[in-house]
Amino acid sequence: MLEVRGVHKHFGTQEVLHGIDLTAETGSVTVVLGPSGSGKSTLLRCVNHLEKVDSGQVRVDGELIGYRQSGDRLHELSERHILRQRAGIGFVFQNFNLFPHLTALENIAEAPIAALRRSPSEAHGYARELLDRVGLADKASAYPRQLSGGQQQRVAIARALALDPKLVLFDEPTSALDPELVGEVLDVMRGLARTGTTMVVVTHEIGFAREAADTVVFLDAGRVVEQGPPAQVLDAPRHDRTRAFLSKVL
Ligand code: ADP
Ligand code: MG
Repeated sequence: MLEVRGVHKHFGTQEVLHGIDLTAETGSVTVVLGPSGSGKSTLLRCVNHLEKVDSGQVRVDGELIGYRQSGDRLHELSERHILRQRAGIGFVFQNFNLFPHLTALENIAEAPIAALRRSPSEAHGYARELLDRVGLADKASAYPRQLSGGQQQRVAIARALALDPKLVLFDEPTSALDPELVGEVLDVMRGLARTGTTMVVVTHEIGFAREAADTVVFLDAGRVVEQGPPAQVLDAPRHDRTRAFLSKVL
């Protein structure tokens, strides 16, 4: 479902991604670990074209992100086509990023109405189903400020699912939450994993990685240092840098 090949990215003179290779099978959960500044967010942002790669390729479900290939040449997609590709990729941000002036229900229904021209009644019906899935059926008319951080993030997850994405990216979805609210968000994510959603999750929640991940990827200074099943990367890491990082977060 996801194929990242040789992705390089720099900002100014700083090279942030030094040739990243990563693949994720349909229905799999990939957890990306790594120190602050190692390029985790940049990698996710390159996958849904919030950042443009300098070189290398990203494919989602076989489709090249941001470009159209004809023969040997790549042509940049128009903004409209990029938006269409991005609609197939859900993104959950650290700080929820809900629209403050819209209710929970309206936050979820906004993209289907605006991007897919669904009727409000159809979009609201599906939004209610999604709210139910994240355990918030009773919060449809609540505004973000009336919800706890954990509830806001669950609404944000429902919103990320509203366009039936092929792939959902999570960028430290629990890092902004008080510790007692982390569990409810991880529970929703475990539920998604069980129903076969293809997920790439940047998180420091090692417990989640151990239980839910098919693959754990350790990124350091813009390079994949190590990747494999959780039991290998978390319990028998091969590299000193992985060991040093894990000793800090465990
Ligand atoms: P992580 O998510 O692993 O903490 P990031 O991908 O956010 O790391 O950042 C990797 C590096 O790229 C950092 O040094 C950061 O300062 C830099 N960086 C990220 N985004 C930008 C940007 N838009 N402009 C300039 N530098 C950036
Ligand atoms: Mg980050």
